[in-house]
Amino acid sequence: MAVTDSTVQISPGSIHNGPSFRLSLTRPEQLAKLPPCQANCPGNGDIRGWVGIIAQREKLGLTLAEAYEKAWNAIVARNPFPATMGRVCPHPCEAGCNRNKKDGAVAINALERFVGDFALAERLPLPRDTAATYPESIGVIGSGPAGLSFAYQMARRGYPVTVYEKHAKPGGMLTYGIPEFRLPEMVIDAEIERILDAGVRLQLNTAVGREISVKELYDRHALVFLGIGAQKSHLLKIPGENGPGVWTGTTYLGLLNSGQPTELGRRVVVVGGGNTAIDAARAARRQGAEVTILYRRTRNEMPAIASEIDDALEENVRMEYLAAPVEILRKESILCGVRVQEMTLGEPDATGRRSPVPIADAVYEIPADAVIAAISQEPDWEGLEPIEEDGKRPRECRDAWLGTNLLAGGDVLGLGIASLAIGHGRMAAEAAHARLRGLPAPQPEERQPLSDVAIRTDYYASFPPASPPRRPAEERLANPDEEITGTLEEEQFQKETSRCFSCGLCFGCQHCLMYCNPRGYTRVIEPRHGAYFALDLDRCEGCGKCIELCPCGFLGPAADCCDAVR
Ligand SMILES: Cc1cc2nc3c(=O)[nH]c(=O)nc-3n(C[C@H](O)[C@H](O)[C@H](O)COP(=O)(O)OP(=O)(O)OC[C@H]3O[C@@H](n4cnc5c(N)ncnc54)[C@H](O)[C@@H]3O)c2cc1C
Ligand code: SF4
Ligand code: SF4
Ligand code: SF4
Repeated sequence: MAVTDSTVQISPGSIHNGPSFRLSLTRPEQLAKLPPCQANCPGNGDIRGWVGIIAQREKLGLTLAEAYEKAWNAIVARNPFPATMGRVCPHPCEAGCNRNKKDGAVAINALERFVGDFALAERLPLPRDTAATYPESIGVIGSGPAGLSFAYQMARRGYPVTVYEKHAKPGGMLTYGIPEFRLPEMVIDAEIERILDAGVRLQLNTAVGREISVKELYDRHALVFLGIGAQKSHLLKIPGENGPGVWTGTTYLGLLNSGQPTELGRRVVVVGGGNTAIDAARAARRQGAEVTILYRRTRNEMPAIASEIDDALEENVRMEYLAAPVEILRKESILCGVRVQEMTLGEPDATGRRSPVPIADAVYEIPADAVIAAISQEPDWEGLEPIEEDGKRPRECRDAWLGTNLLAGGDVLGLGIASLAIGHGRMAAEAAHARLRGLPAPQPEERQPLSDVAIRTDYYASFPPASPPRRPAEERLANPDEEITGTLEEEQFQKETSRCFSCGLCFGCQHCLMYCNPRGYTRVIEPRHGAYFALDLDRCEGCGKCIELCPCGFLGPAADCCDAVR
């Protein structure tokens, strides 16, 4: 260490590989930071919280059973569908995880699935926040993840909630879109059942705007949540498409998921590059068809979940990129092929993606017995025109409120993923509860996520992430409805939780306690998650050693201590 005047220079890597500090009377501050996994989760899941409870259970004096229960309560405070999300979420949380800088992200999605499956096996109920009951009745249009998330969050706060669903089963695209081999019916059904058990009333086969008018809904309920998703699909608007053999992706998957007949024939062409296209193609492969996907851009621009595209390729779905259908070919009304235009990529469009441009005279034909159009979906406003006219239109909605008594969330605001819909539902419920009870409106998160620069990665033992079992492609095609991926073993689960750095929150490593010479830190009598040691600044001599040694970035220079240079 070099000493200059009253300044202590701690050289980089002298103790750990973290940042260096130029310290002069650097007083620490215990401050929880936003971990990047949470910042990246569209549902804002408190991953560090529920993973940490399991990993630190011994320090917290919890039995394993107590830790599981606490972790369960922490997870469902934001997401009542962990077994479902643990299967279908493309887990952007993991892309943000600071552990990527060491030996691979914490396997958050697999951990979430384990907790979800554990809760289903143990029949853990969803908790209520309070014994209070409020008089304001709440109506919800649509029982997809957005509507059910909102409904649950209102019910747990003590409101009477009724969900109106036009279909015979609840769950929206989780029930009618995503196929069995990715999300078993019994999993989504059981997670929905648990929401209903938490006090949500469900009225099936009730399309708002048809079986019940919008006016009647407003008369019945103090507040209404609009969670109708984007259920209307389009055909391709090309010659020859009107006739047998042409399906939309959502119709095909909907029939398949309802156990209804879906005879496609031997050769199937799927048009599109989103999740619906990939799911339809993989489902058709499982029906024994040879499947070709036509996509007008390249793989780089495909909006589908990347791992699902890989799975489709493994299952021998053929991809033809830079290819757009221009005509459905028929022989005496029987579909026999598709005329395809070759494309190239031109200038970026409004979304920033390069636009596909036709190449002159580059047209070819491919044989087909069926065509599945999976190109886009939008909200179906039939019968809901009074809502569409009430205040702002959904795509202009910046917060949860659409009108005076109307909130919205999920795909109706723009196509997204399920965890975003769940997050919208929760945030709308927080806004609704605040308004109904005269509380301050919830504020958006303003903290920046804690970067890996603040983590002493060499403190943590190195070992690779847990990986759940997966069936090889041949086995998947031979067992069409069997799930592809399995759940972690309990031992793997527990070990994986210990990989979390606990970015930005104390996990009780004791460095500060052990290395503070003037004994600035003392154990708290009843430790809680994130609160193991109390700091007495009257004893602090300002050496800054504890900040330097804290592996997870929880300790930092106090805001009023301006000499520290980070
Ligand atoms: C094939 C497919 C695969 C997907 N795969 C994934 C995936 O792997 N991972 C992922 O995270 N996301 C995936 N998604 C996206 C995800 O399913 C959606 O983002 C999510 O379901 C949107 O939730 P939502 O509640 O807004 O709408 P929806 O799930 O569409 O639910 C809307 C509900 O409202 C009901 N409704 C509509 N109008 C009325 C009315 N007038 N009256 C009463 N009820 C009405 C509908 O019947 C439906 O039940 C996929 C989507 C599709 C189509
Ligand atoms: S919902 Fe998705 S993004 Fe959020 S924690 Fe779960 S896997 Fe990660
Ligand atoms: S190490 Fe843990 S807290 Fe940090 S980003 Fe990853 S999961 Fe989140
Ligand atoms: S050094 Fe360890 S015990 Fe001290 S605040 Fe940081 S994580 Fe907590």
